[in-house]
Amino acid sequence: MRCGKIVCVGQNYREHVREMRSAEPTEPVLFLKPATALIGDGDPIRIPAGIGTVHHEVELALIIGTGGRDIEERKALAHVSHAAVFNDVTARDMQAAARRAGLPWALAKGIDTFAPMGAPVPFERIRDVHALGLELRVNGERRQKGSTAQMIFPPEALISYISRFMTLEPGDIIATGTPSGVGPLVPGDVVEAMVDEAGAVRNPVEGR
Ligand code: MG
Repeated sequence: MRCGKIVCVGQNYREHVREMRSAEPTEPVLFLKPATALIGDGDPIRIPAGIGTVHHEVELALIIGTGGRDIEERKALAHVSHAAVFNDVTARDMQAAARRAGLPWALAKGIDTFAPMGAPVPFERIRDVHALGLELRVNGERRQKGSTAQMIFPPEALISYISRFMTLEPGDIIATGTPSGVGPLVPGDVVEAMVDEAGAVRNPVEGR
């Protein structure tokens, strides 16, 4: 499957908004990751030297099968072909410095290997996208646990909103945001992200 753009949603779970000391958004907060950041199950996350703290973020990813623009919410899920588990790896210190300076934080999210994604599962196999458990473990210890029921903007709202501004194309990935419990990854760790019915992605962490 060709991957086009990776559209990520920030601050889409209330408890995570709180832990980031952000204000609850009134519209979805969007940013992009380059396709070159994507890796699969078992591939190492490589942290460049000197970038400070790096965090994990377990998320549900939705993969677009049928493209479109100005997609209506009630038809939005028909545009999704697959679901997958996604880890929105984030250079948190770089992001915080950019935010303080009022500058874009694209680099903090777009580093090579900072987008692990599990094998896509056909979307028709997902029984209820609004009630999927998410979990993340580091070295076998649980760090994040949540449910897609806690999203501020549910999948249909996200797809509709994004498509008002960016045409969605087959193969585009939407990462729908992370629940609370984000925390550090360091070389030597093994991180495993899981979403009910959408599988798991497990990656060793290495320095670079
Ligand atoms: Mg995220």
